[in-house]
Amino acid sequence: MTTPPPITEPDPSALVCPGDKVGSCTGCQRKAHRYGTGRSPLCQSCMEPVKAG
Ligand SMILES: [Zn+2]
Repeated sequence: MTTPPPITEPDPSALVCPGDKVGSCTGCQRKAHRYGTGRSPLCQSCMEPVKAG
């Protein structure tokens, strides 16, 4: 069982996108890539169950 990274760490997706596309994840508040204008960002950890479901 792996330990999730601390939410104080920005999501990897936030590190590879322009700063103006970074926002707080709606799930855990960590910095994450915002997908499209006005869309709520989700970090990869929070995105997993969304994509699975
Ligand atoms: Zn999150």
